[in-house]
Amino acid sequence: MNLVRLADEAYKETLKPTSKYREVSADTRVPYISLLDHSLLTSGIAVACVKELILRGSSPLELSGYNLTEEEAIASVRIASLFHDYGKIYQTHLGHIEKGVNFVRSWLEEKGIEGIKKEVILREIERHHLRKNPESLLEKIVCLADSIASAGDRPDLSDIKTYKELVDKTQGTIELEKEIFGEKHGLALILGDTDRIKFYVYETTKLPAIRGASEILKELNEVKTKEIFSSHLVPECLIYSGGGSFLGIVPVSLADTIKSEVEKAYLVETSVCTISIVFKPLSYLNFARGIEPYVEEGFSPIFRNAKGIGNWLLESHFGKKMEFKDKKGFGEFVQSLAYELKREKETKERVPFFEVLPIVERCQYCGKRAAEKLDEIGTEKFTVCYVCKKSVDKGRRDRTILLDCFKNWIEKNYGVNEEIEKAIPCPDLDRIGNYIAFIYADGNEIGETFSRIKAPSSYKHFSESLKEATENSIFEALYKGFESVIRDNQLPRNDDGKPYLPFEILNIGGDDVAVLVPAPFSWKVALKFLEEFEERTKKLAKELGNKEGKFTSSCGILIAKSSYPMHYAERLAEGLLKKAKKKAKEKDKTKEETKSAVCHLYLTTSIASEDAEGLLKDFYEREHEKFTLTLRPYTLEEAKVILDRIGDLKIATSQIYKLAQSLEKGIHFSYGFYLYQSVRGSIEGKENGFQKKTEDLFKKLGCGEPNILWKKTEKGFATPLYDILELLKIGVNKIG
Ligand SMILES: [Zn+2]
Repeated sequence: MNLVRLADEAYKETLKPTSKYREVSADTRVPYISLLDHSLLTSGIAVACVKELILRGSSPLELSGYNLTEEEAIASVRIASLFHDYGKIYQTHLGHIEKGVNFVRSWLEEKGIEGIKKEVILREIERHHLRKNPESLLEKIVCLADSIASAGDRPDLSDIKTYKELVDKTQGTIELEKEIFGEKHGLALILGDTDRIKFYVYETTKLPAIRGASEILKELNEVKTKEIFSSHLVPECLIYSGGGSFLGIVPVSLADTIKSEVEKAYLVETSVCTISIVFKPLSYLNFARGIEPYVEEGFSPIFRNAKGIGNWLLESHFGKKMEFKDKKGFGEFVQSLAYELKREKETKERVPFFEVLPIVERCQYCGKRAAEKLDEIGTEKFTVCYVCKKSVDKGRRDRTILLDCFKNWIEKNYGVNEEIEKAIPCPDLDRIGNYIAFIYADGNEIGETFSRIKAPSSYKHFSESLKEATENSIFEALYKGFESVIRDNQLPRNDDGKPYLPFEILNIGGDDVAVLVPAPFSWKVALKFLEEFEERTKKLAKELGNKEGKFTSSCGILIAKSSYPMHYAERLAEGLLKKAKKKAKEKDKTKEETKSAVCHLYLTTSIASEDAEGLLKDFYEREHEKFTLTLRPYTLEEAKVILDRIGDLKIATSQIYKLAQSLEKGIHFSYGFYLYQSVRGSIEGKENGFQKKTEDLFKKLGCGEPNILWKKTEKGFATPLYDILELLKIGVNKIG
């Protein structure tokens, strides 16, 4: 068999769901990095190294000592890297090299690979440790790739404090790297992130167009980028892609080509959406110890002399306690690249823009570009632009990547459901409901945690685990939210009688999600997501040494009419998310931990605004915060208490308005009115203990001063009653 095709087969072999590679750890000292993660990364790095040397003019003869083709030289290190630790699946690390070599020998023979080609591969595996004296450049490359892939995971490396220790422990590998690449770095780390995603996705008023635009970006990010990497290198060179960004390892000499090809793909596919990409050459020491200086010793003079701003900068990088050891690793290098990416985005010269002449007819979906196509919905005709037409056609198909994911997830976790299998995406926004909720959630302080990741293989592992946890959390929240509808085959039907989902998953990124649900379902879905996210990230938090033992997230919910412009809905939901995040960071007096938090806003008018904070102030603050008609944002714990109890509160609609009005009149008046109504029993159910139930709830929310409806705040008093009345109006109590 052709060696290149065999290498592809080896790659697929390791990726099999049943592969033992997934269960066995690469290094007994770091239990969570699987052999799979380590082997894939070693392969990606090794291939990038060989490619760099070839681009610099090395011949396969110089690389291997034999007359291989360039493709064969690359395939040989790929196979060797993918299988270099194969012996470890026998769970004894003693003699793993010999065991691996024996396995690969019979595997190659079985595939008809004999002679020189077989020997080259076997020797690359045999000599992948420095002490085995790798001889040819290919052997040296596999050895270096193995060291790089596991660099920061080695506990003995992370304890290094002085330059002398650093030299003692890494000299061999540094010399090896020099023998391969000389003085010039061979590898570069490349990081990309889609620009202004939201402007592209939410610029239209049609749900299929939003879905289509989102789908186009997802394909670019998760499929096309990988294809570009594979066409020059191998997919293993891509460490991570998802949520609109990607991170990869490439040969320095190829970095520019890959950058421009990915950039071009975005423009070709979307016409308007761009991606920013930066790359930076790096060495073994960068992989292992982040950015310079590599050891604490190098920092001592800086620490001693740092005052004022200098000291703040050091603190903001290393944390208040100057946790130097925590910070030095691959994550620090990625973080420095992320800063460059941010700068690149800020200085981006031009955003693709189509000039529209004053008297040209504009697109009825986005209102931005010239209309040049026709889109039909039923009997209605719309004149739309080229970009919107492309999105809307894409979004109108019966299947999308995200919907398929959700369906597979349901089948895996709750069994086959025929109606779900047949379900198509929601036809349009008004089919979700008259009032719909834009839920936008995002993990708390995740970036900070990621900057402390030591090794590239950990980076891959954590990015993927986090994405999986986020995805599972929102799927579970949606399933639980709509469980009775799904289970009892109560899905709504479109005009052709096809069942569709009455909600929309707009996006699932690394640790963030955006979904649309009918307003009454908003709290249930949001709180369930927050709860699940805490639960499903526990394992990850433990592996990362996170002191709180879990990760938390925050959530903004904008509730508005289905005709409300999505662009504003998204901006407001993001603003509310920011408010929730502030709450999440408020540390407890006793415990130093972040909390999951939620903040919502219920818009009954079509006021166009992007300023959530301003709206909350305008709506709820009275007499310069002397009294405030809301306790938002709520922690998850508080919100759960409210949602738990709100079903018990039966207040007639007319009473809801009267109670709300009484709150406007102040702290004492409202309390008097509340007492009067409770005693009169016109708030339904004096007999079923309404007063006791509400007061119990208010007490749990910290109320009681000067009376049970109000809570003392920094500047005055605030009440949760208005929030509760609003939630009743939204109908969150009606969802079981
Ligand atoms: Zn348009």
